[in-house]
Amino acid sequence: MADLLHVDLTQRTATRNALAAEHEMLGGHALSSAIVAQDVDPKADPLGPDNVLVYAAGILAGTVIPNTGRLSVGAKSPLTGGIKEANSGGAAAQKLARLGLRGLKVTGRADALSVLEVSAGGGRLVPADDLQGLGTRETVRLLRERHGDGVAIVCIGPAGELQFKASAIVVTSPDFRLRTAARGGLGAVMGAKNLKALVIDDSGGPGVTAADPAAIKAAASALTKGIRAHPAMVALEALGTPFLVNVANGLGSLSTKNFSAGQFEDAAAISGEHMVEIMGARPNSDPKHSCMAGCVVRCSQVYTDQDGSEITSGFEFETLGLLGANCGISDLDQLARIDGLCDDLGLDTMEVGAAAGVAMETGLLPWGDGAAVHELLSKVTAGDANAALIANGCASTGVALGAARIPAVKGQGMPAWEPRALKGTGATYATSPQGADHTAGNALPSPVNPGYDPSSPIGQDQMSQFLQAYFAAIDSLGFCLFPSLAALDMPELQGHLVAAVAALTGRELPEGYLIALGTDVVMMEREFNRRAGFTPADDRLPAFMVREALPPGGNRFDVSDADLDGMFAG
Ligand code: SF4
Repeated sequence: MADLLHVDLTQRTATRNALAAEHEMLGGHALSSAIVAQDVDPKADPLGPDNVLVYAAGILAGTVIPNTGRLSVGAKSPLTGGIKEANSGGAAAQKLARLGLRGLKVTGRADALSVLEVSAGGGRLVPADDLQGLGTRETVRLLRERHGDGVAIVCIGPAGELQFKASAIVVTSPDFRLRTAARGGLGAVMGAKNLKALVIDDSGGPGVTAADPAAIKAAASALTKGIRAHPAMVALEALGTPFLVNVANGLGSLSTKNFSAGQFEDAAAISGEHMVEIMGARPNSDPKHSCMAGCVVRCSQVYTDQDGSEITSGFEFETLGLLGANCGISDLDQLARIDGLCDDLGLDTMEVGAAAGVAMETGLLPWGDGAAVHELLSKVTAGDANAALIANGCASTGVALGAARIPAVKGQGMPAWEPRALKGTGATYATSPQGADHTAGNALPSPVNPGYDPSSPIGQDQMSQFLQAYFAAIDSLGFCLFPSLAALDMPELQGHLVAAVAALTGRELPEGYLIALGTDVVMMEREFNRRAGFTPADDRLPAFMVREALPPGGNRFDVSDADLDGMFAG
């Protein structure tokens, strides 16, 4: 079984031990939350030395199962004040797994900015004075130059060093493009610990051996075939996640102009269809990029300018929804530049987009002015007070500007799916221990489930509870959310995932394994938050979403408080 590397930054020690017996069958989200719940005082200062930062590979990381290289990062969140897990693609989790590590637990605080080198020899802290203040691109370039192409890098930008609460953690893909564990301000936790980067080198590691190699191969082959046959995966491969812009707009659920409408008049201009058309005419653009080895969907992309210079990569639906429709910005090149700048600063584009929408509604920024957003963000490191507002997230921006409409739950800015049109998604945003989160359990209509009405207030509690458990389990396997949507529609694929865990570990798994695993995670997180001081009053959408009808469908959020409070009740 796998090990855990405990790095004490204060003492500058690294100790490798077998995972505790109660954590042996956990990975990813489940492992990061279990360690945080066990080791962190819920009342601790998220930016103090007593917070614990966990990087966890999924249970299936490093195996032949496709799309299983997500890295979970967990800690108490400086943005929400609750427990947090944010995950990212990239190469880091597979390298940890090949070193025989399921995770890293980082405690204390280094006395100076440091890089943690993780290898078969253990963990080693080295000074990072020369990386101080650098953007993530230059940080990655320098570390790659020093350590070679065989490593994965996890790092923060200047936003994390300055401990802004919308700070993200960047993870490199196999070709050193940037992905992010974006939500919850976990980049600020890294910054507060004086940890600029991890460099993970898996050379000489033991690799991952399955208890039943033939069975895990069979599961991999069945999963690959099933995932690739699903129509949404075909669309994701062709158009990337931006294909969801037209889907959300068609459902009247695309967050528009600070969540005042569900359809954006310029949706076509920021759609996946338009993006692919633009990329088709530009040198060096790549509309089918993989963020990790073993991905069979390839939903990512590399977006270049007319001369073929890269502007950004991983240019996703949530960014387009929140910085695009939500801010009334319809110029894809401008959005790509903002996305690229956020990645380099190490900022969460979702939190920034939600904050910028509030800033536009209150008059701090002009509606639809991408250049103004870019200019403001470029002053984040220069001590500009308005830039700092945005970099601290949507909720604090709204409070500081006296906004009446702040689209956030538990302090976290809302994703781009409008919850009044998708009420199961709204129930998830309201009750998830993560705050409003796009990976916690979106409930979307599906041809496979024609009886599901996303606009009905009835039954959304059950739908949301099931999905919250399902996605917490998926994140614990390290499986990517997108193919997990195919597995939602094709339950036989869930069976193959469970068979893969059994084949890897040699353990028999009970009926209902996935949902039981995910339910345990969510219940544990809810208990942490309760001890941190959260109450049922925190499990609500903003009042304006209950009060205001959303054009064009006219929906208000009317899932009852009793239904919300009854979720995960026992
Ligand atoms: S489907 Fe997209 S997000 Fe998932 S592993 Fe592949 S490229 Fe990464």
